Amino acid sequence: MTEPLRVISQEERIRKLNEAHNNVFLLDAEDIAIDLLTDSGTGAMSTEQWAALMLGDESYAGSRSWKKFEKTVGDITGMEFIFPTHQGRAAESLLAITQVKPGDIIPNNNHFDTTRANLLYVGATPLDLVVDAGLDPDDESPFKGNMDLAKLESCIHEHGREKIPFAMITVTNNSGGGQPVSMANVREVKSILKKYGIPLVIDACRFAENAYFIHEREDGFQDKSLLEIAQEMFGLADAATMSLKKDGLSNIGGFFVCRDPHWAESFQNMLILREGFPTYGGLAGRDLEVAAVGLREALDYPYQQYRHATVEYVLNRLIDKNIPVMKPAGGHAVFLDARRFLPHIPPMAYPGISLVNALYRAGGIRAVELGSVMFGHIDESGQELPATMELVRLAFPRRVYTQSHFDYMLEVIDEVWQNRALLKGYRITRQPTFLRHFSCWFDERTE
Ligand SMILES: *Cc1c(COP(=O)(O)O)cnc(C)c1O
Repeated sequence: MTEPLRVISQEERIRKLNEAHNNVFLLDAEDIAIDLLTDSGTGAMSTEQWAALMLGDESYAGSRSWKKFEKTVGDITGMEFIFPTHQGRAAESLLAITQVKPGDIIPNNNHFDTTRANLLYVGATPLDLVVDAGLDPDDESPFKGNMDLAKLESCIHEHGREKIPFAMITVTNNSGGGQPVSMANVREVKSILKKYGIPLVIDACRFAENAYFIHEREDGFQDKSLLEIAQEMFGLADAATMSLKKDGLSNIGGFFVCRDPHWAESFQNMLILREGFPTYGGLAGRDLEVAAVGLREALDYPYQQYRHATVEYVLNRLIDKNIPVMKPAGGHAVFLDARRFLPHIPPMAYPGISLVNALYRAGGIRAVELGSVMFGHIDESGQELPATMELVRLAFPRRVYTQSHFDYMLEVIDEVWQNRALLKGYRITRQPTFLRHFSCWFDERTE
């Protein structure tokens, strides 16, 4: 597939961003030159996927497409109960509604924003227990997405097993810079949880990218296929949530899988109420076909090798120019460190938003803030607290952009870097209760 890219003038971009209340989520896609807002559902499908799309069986119940989907997900995860959903957050929401009570505590390395919001919505507290290395953009440890085992143990001691219906681990750790989790870490997390009878749920959105990192960086996995590595990791879990818009190489879809028949039964009841019959779960038969092919293609070694080489290429060019970034390279994105990029803008004036908006104005590039707008929170006294890091994510859609697109992007980032002293902070003028970053309005500060 080819698609023309329209590049509008800088004057037009400045006007469009004003009309969008300085929030790039509110821009029209046709006004973006290079769209790195997310790698979610933005990939290009393969010839095999387009062919599979034509085989979609749209029978309401027990379709052939469902059988293929079920077999593929079963082969990869080894889980007994498999439920399609329309997106990852639907899987998270149904899990939260069925297994979580108000006052519960859910540990994770880092909760993704939708996971966090779904847990808060049912009155639970999401806790982020990533290793300290994961919070230091300069630390080059190979597995910065790992869960801190000591923090996990003390969390269980402090709150008690009854308050923790399950723990999660996100692979790769999207909110923590797309950093991987080692097999050894998942094994140790599982053994701690097992002592207390707490189930482990994997947020598996980028399980194939994580398997690639394990293959490259962890001893003992060099002779295993990515499929075998993924199977071993799912083998340690009791359940998993998945967004097929990531390593399903699909434009829509998600799933929930588990081993416990009681979890499966309550999940299925809510699935029928909210998403659809259990053999399609809010998806068309053709979507199930596409995902069944995409899940296997994501485990193709040369595909992962090329994708990771692209991310590293961009990261190394930025490091060459001394532009502050999160190191080492993550799986799906490059993260600029806005706190050090714009040290004159304090966290509560949202340096990440300032940088995101500058990238759009300078070159029509759309990135996303992963900082105090997305992750900051209001404490009991009504005080707004900053996030631990102020990152700007440049997410790489799968199989979409070429090296020349990335070279253009690097020129734009460099231009913003040269003129960074001129950038100003922002304030929020309107915000919703949940997931405020999607729709809030900003004003540029004048001071
Ligand atoms: C994208 C994502 C989700 C949510 O999936 P959607 O399909 O967007 O609802 C959950 N967790 C992680 C780590 C993600 O990256």
